[in-house]
Amino acid sequence: MSQILLTPGPVPLHPEVIRILAQPMIHHRTPAFDEILSSCLQKLPKIFGTREKVFMHSSTGSGGMESVLVNVLSPGDKVLAIVSGKFGERWAEMAKTFGMQVDILNVNWGEAVTEEQVQNRLLTHTYRAVLCQACETSTAVLHPIRELGELIAKLPETLFLVDGITAVGAADLPMDLFHIDGLVAGSQKALMLPTGLSFVSFSQKAQKYFATATCPRFYFDIRKEQKANTGGETFYSSNVLLVRALDWVLNFIEQQGLKTFLNTVQRRSVMTHHFLSLAGLRSYSKNPSPSLTAIVLPENSPGVEMRKHLEDKYSVVVMGGQDQLKGKILRIGHMGYIQDSDMQSFFEALMKTFLDFKIAGWTEDKMKTIVEQMRNWCQKNS
Ligand SMILES: *Cc1c(COP(=O)(O)O)cnc(C)c1O
Repeated sequence: MSQILLTPGPVPLHPEVIRILAQPMIHHRTPAFDEILSSCLQKLPKIFGTREKVFMHSSTGSGGMESVLVNVLSPGDKVLAIVSGKFGERWAEMAKTFGMQVDILNVNWGEAVTEEQVQNRLLTHTYRAVLCQACETSTAVLHPIRELGELIAKLPETLFLVDGITAVGAADLPMDLFHIDGLVAGSQKALMLPTGLSFVSFSQKAQKYFATATCPRFYFDIRKEQKANTGGETFYSSNVLLVRALDWVLNFIEQQGLKTFLNTVQRRSVMTHHFLSLAGLRSYSKNPSPSLTAIVLPENSPGVEMRKHLEDKYSVVVMGGQDQLKGKILRIGHMGYIQDSDMQSFFEALMKTFLDFKIAGWTEDKMKTIVEQMRNWCQKNS
């Protein structure tokens, strides 16, 4: 029995991507590869919603987060980090590592930051940058990026740096329109590729700092990439296999239109919330991102064992919660090459797991009724 992968990154690959990844190797300094690279560099800004250039690194998403920091900030800079979960913690930690003075705006897990919370800090402090996740993947929360962008755009010395790793290609996040100054995306989330590429872009306001930022940087120095990209190449060896697959994905998105692509992800979120209501379960996030759903498990469930049981017995792979959410939630991704039948299989397996663990209120009949209702929803909304 093959596994169903429903994690919020990595995500299931499209069969065509798998086929392309198996093609013979070509060298990255060749006309054949130059053509593929140039096609990607031309299409990426449309996905980012920007008139600026988008650069790529051979790194995981965290490398892109580092790139965004080191290219525009300097040790000693005052930075406000919005921390609403694990990824917010990571970015704040990273900024501290590079010597920035980091103020933390702690947001209750499961909640989105409010404009007022940020405005209050901005009124009393002068920051060089504000850091925020668009989607905080550890809690499935979507933050009000557009509203924050409008606030920060009024401050000529403050940059708005956004981790869009689970938002670019999943939620509507046009960089220019939302006044984002530094945006990062990663290959293994909504872009439906294996892990290994990160993408970054900078507004004009941010680009001014490329020359003056004094953070140590070598591999992630965007000035090198700028120069190399102008000549149709990447500065270091290109990630040939992933870039070739990326070109296919970008064409795939372009053919249907970004909006349709985003709607496909959004529809899985709507489907999941509908299934949750049928099962009397709820979502953890008070402002859910379309990228994934965090499902609150019934009170006193052995959540860690249940997640493992889903994998071992039913071959469905989902993520659990971390830290304070360990054993309390399951996180299921809506990004990647996912079929309705995968979503139905997951919910059916989840309910069977409730029966296997004798969770109060769960019966075979109740499960069967819900399975039927899910099937009807999928037929009606196909
Ligand atoms: C996945 C993810 C990252 C990056 O993780 P890597 O393992 O470095 O690719 C960063 N931020 C968010 C919000 C993510 O979901």
